[in-house]
Formats: sequence, structure tokens, C-alpha cells
Amino acid sequence: MPGDSAKTIVITGASSGIGKASARLFHENGWNVVATMRRPEAETDLQPSERMKLVALDVQDPESPPRAVAEAVAAFGQIDVWLNNAGYGAFGPLEAGTREQIIRQFEVNVFGLIACVQAVAPHFRARRSGTVINVSSIGGIMTVPAFSVYNATKFAIEGLSEGLWYELGTFGIRVRLIEPGAIKTEFGGRSADVWDISRLPDYAGFMEKVRASRTKYTQNSSPPELVAEVIYAAAIDPSDRLRYLAGPDARRYVPLRRLLGAPAMMRMVRRMFTR
Ligand code: NAP
Repeated sequence: MPGDSAKTIVITGASSGIGKASARLFHENGWNVVATMRRPEAETDLQPSERMKLVALDVQDPESPPRAVAEAVAAFGQIDVWLNNAGYGAFGPLEAGTREQIIRQFEVNVFGLIACVQAVAPHFRARRSGTVINVSSIGGIMTVPAFSVYNATKFAIEGLSEGLWYELGTFGIRVRLIEPGAIKTEFGGRSADVWDISRLPDYAGFMEKVRASRTKYTQNSSPPELVAEVIYAAAIDPSDRLRYLAGPDARRYVPLRRLLGAPAMMRMVRRMFTR
């Protein structure tokens, strides 16, 4: 079997950004990589090889995760780490989101991730080992204006992962949360679901301020390779640590939120983004 002694990672959303940077880094470090994506046939950067398999996985399709688990096990014998990275941000005030847009945000960021955990957990439980890494966000701990539904999905991932830490931890399975700050990827580009506020002129001024402050804030975004390094450290960490911050803004704002408490922090964020 190729890459027999190497460890194996399965990555969701490996077509772009943090997922792709992680696929590269684990591969460079000698791991077998199952880079999953919605359209592997369209991938041109990651080259399939003995230790790099491109596999189809759409987290919105319930049949997709079990199929990917089977393909990964068939290729490499076992899975050591499953990285739940696929996700995107819906941007706009709650009132502007259609039912379909809101459901899709939860389907990809929360229910899709749950489907992946349910698919790989029996494999990990049978082996009494394995690591589930969930990509959350600083938006899973603190909120920013015009991201209410995205924030809700990442808060959900935080609670879910704490729950899994107990449940899967009983079997020696590690659970990690990665909490990046602003990262230069397609998150703010083609992946963003920007909600139409044209029928809600009341929000125009608010959104204008949020957009301008966000543009300023994201000028200092970190590269996805920085998050990949944190994910790699989390994958090889033998401890039972759950949370890993990624990026200077994450390391600044998350402790500040804990220090100040939510009300004071929210007033500060309101000043930063809507004044
Ligand atoms: P990205 O470059 O837009 O990558 C997102 C990935 O998710 C793409 O590979 C995309 O695939 C995939 N995806 C979307 N819907 C999917 C579906 N239904 N099934 C499978 N894959 C799907 O953005 P990124 O920043 O690397 O995002 C990765 C993760 O980091 C997300 O969970 C995001 O919430 C989190 N995060 C990002 C930031 C940031 O500032 N960038 C900060 C904190 C957390 P396609 O190529 O097919 O669209």
C-alpha cells in the first residue's frame, strides 16, 4: 500500500485557501493526503500522486462523507486525522437572508461537518484513536456586525466540539478547534454569500460602515499557510488540548473578549465596525 508507514489526513474543502494550504503542508511533511473537494476534476494545483489523492466530497450531500471515508481507507488502510475545513461566510443583516441562504449556511458549516464526524467516528472508535480537527473562527467566540448567521454557525461548532471532546475522548479520539482570525483566502471573495439589501434601504448606512471597516480590518489578513501550521501543530499534539488560535488578531481579540467580558467587547466591536 502506498505511503504505508505514513499517517493519513482527510481534508474537506481542499480546493482553496486554508484547506489547500493544509493539503500542501501535510504532504510536504510526508503524510498521505486525501484532499477532498466538490469538483476534483477541476483541480489544477494539487497533483495526484501515491501520497496525494483527490476525492469528491460535497458536505451538503449526505452520501458523500461515508464514500470519502471508504475511498481514503481503500487507498491508505486507515485515517489518522480528519480536518473539517469546508465552510463559507454569509454576509449581511439577518433580515436580508432568504430561507434558502440561511439553511445553506447551516448545511455547509454545521450539518455538513456533523455528517463528516458521523462518517469517520466509527473508523476512529474501532481503532481507539484518531483526531477530528474542526475549523471554527474567532467568529465562534466573538461576534462582528453583519455576520449574525455565520457567527451562529461557528458558535454551534464550538459547542458541538466541546461535546465531542467528552464523547469521542472516551475512546482516545482527540478533538481540536482551530480559531483563525482574518485570513487571505476566497472567504471574502468568490466564496462569500453577500446578501442583497436593496429591498431594505434602512440598513444601507449600517452596511456601508461595516463594509468600510471590514475592508480596513482585512488589509492585515494572515496567509492561509499560517493556519495550516497551526493545524499541523494541533494534529501532532499528543495532549488533549481543544482550542488553537491562529493569527495575530485572533491572539489579540480572543483573550481581550475573555478579559473584558461580552458586553464591553461588543461595545468595542460596535465602535470599530459601525461608527
Ligand atoms: P475559501 O478559500 O473560500 O475555502 C473554502 C472551501 O470550502 C473551498 O474549498 C470550498 O469549495 C469549500 N466548500 C464550500 N462549500 C462546500 C461544500 N458544500 N462541500 C465541500 N466543500 C465546500 O475560504 P477559507 O478561508 O479557506 O475557509 C476555510 C474555513 O476557514 C471555513 O470553514 C471558514 O469559515 C474558516 N475561516 C476562514 C477565515 C478567513 O478569514 N478566511 C477566518 C476564520 C475561519 P469550492 O472551491 O468548491 O467552493
